[in-house]
Amino acid sequence: MIKPKQNLQKELEKMLPTLDGGVLLHCCCAPCSTSCLEYLKPKVKDMSLYFYNPNIDTEEEYFRRAGELKKLNEIGGYNYPLTVADYEPQTFYDAVKGLENCPEGGARCAVCFRIRLAAAVEQAKKEGRKYVLTTLSVSPHKNAELLFETGKAAAKDSGVIFLPSDFKKGGGFIRSTQICREYGIYRQSYCGCRFAKGS
Ligand code: SF4
Repeated sequence: MIKPKQNLQKELEKMLPTLDGGVLLHCCCAPCSTSCLEYLKPKVKDMSLYFYNPNIDTEEEYFRRAGELKKLNEIGGYNYPLTVADYEPQTFYDAVKGLENCPEGGARCAVCFRIRLAAAVEQAKKEGRKYVLTTLSVSPHKNAELLFETGKAAAKDSGVIFLPSDFKKGGGFIRSTQICREYGIYRQSYCGCRFAKGS
């Protein structure tokens, strides 16, 4: 029998009022963070942001995207503590070796999720936060179930709980494009890695 698909955003909604610790939100970029932050602000009191995306193809693009996140955090009035990790592209290239030619959404992306979410779990431990969430599920190109399974595996035995989400649900992606226009946020035309550029 085929298992019915879970609505991960509904799962998150049920869990948020029960949280008894801080949340670390892994932010892939400012555009994806827009509607997530708008949604989470009234629901989560204690949260920090973490920008760790070694998949991004150049240092210039990395810090441009990080800068846009900082701008969103300020002009959106969020002012959450934000950590921008050092740019470590070799971590990504080593992890996806042999998968360079996979199409977007394939095996290379699964590894890309794993390294970013594993780093987010480590950062949550460092900050003493109990929960991790990622903005990646806003994108219509990202599989929320895969993100959740990957995040849970990364958090296994860590003492950190990876929360389900599917922020694209309920118009989350469309809302992200509206907020970007409103705040003049740079919306990049490719996911991040050089292998997906132009695809
Ligand atoms: S397409 Fe995006 S998710 Fe996939 S490997 Fe490249 S940067 Fe990562």
